[in-house]
Amino acid sequence: MKLLEDRIRKDGVVKEGNILKVDSFLNHQMDVDLFNAMGEEFRRLFAERPVNKILTIEASGIGIAVIAAQHFHVPVVFAKKAQSVNLDGEMYTTKIESFTHKRTYDVIVSKKFLSSDDHILVIDDFLANGCAVNGLIDLIRSAGATVEGVGIAIEKGFQTGGNLIRSKGIRVESLAIIDSMDAKTGEIEFRKPAAAGS
Ligand code: 5GP
Repeated sequence: MKLLEDRIRKDGVVKEGNILKVDSFLNHQMDVDLFNAMGEEFRRLFAERPVNKILTIEASGIGIAVIAAQHFHVPVVFAKKAQSVNLDGEMYTTKIESFTHKRTYDVIVSKKFLSSDDHILVIDDFLANGCAVNGLIDLIRSAGATVEGVGIAIEKGFQTGGNLIRSKGIRVESLAIIDSMDAKTGEIEFRKPAAAGS
């Protein structure tokens, strides 16, 4: 999506350790008009899927998911990072390793908000090694619900997450895929869309 790529080029900052900082428009200050265009694009990409709910994870997925949901007219559920898991049977739980914080979280969703009737679109801000999305898929499968697809704002295509999730047969649509980035020069290279018919 050209609008997002242009914005990443303009305002994204490449940090050491394969981190792209986008906190001036995506995950600290949020550009709502950009989010709206992203939501519209997710809707277009998943138009034929019978999505009845969007699932994301706190915190930075929530803004993108909520604005996308306005285009799908469905509720958003966000998985919560829990300090301790209360094993009272009321929650689906999984563990997610955070790429940016280098620690593992217990992540929960109430059983009230995820059921076998649900057709879920997963939305998140970044796809890096795929731990966050993989954990969300785990929660959806625990509920017996259907994964209709995964919508990502920025995929770092040089990390393993994209292959990991696509190899499960799940459709992943990323609005910008970064093939390489260089903390020294600040250069960012985006994947070119596949040519029609290829
Ligand atoms: P994964 O679980 O795919 O390894 O990482 C995804 C999560 O880590 C995302 O939810 C996002 O919050 C965070 N993340 C991963 N890479 C980056 C990055 O380069 N920049 C920022 N700002 N967050 C990232």
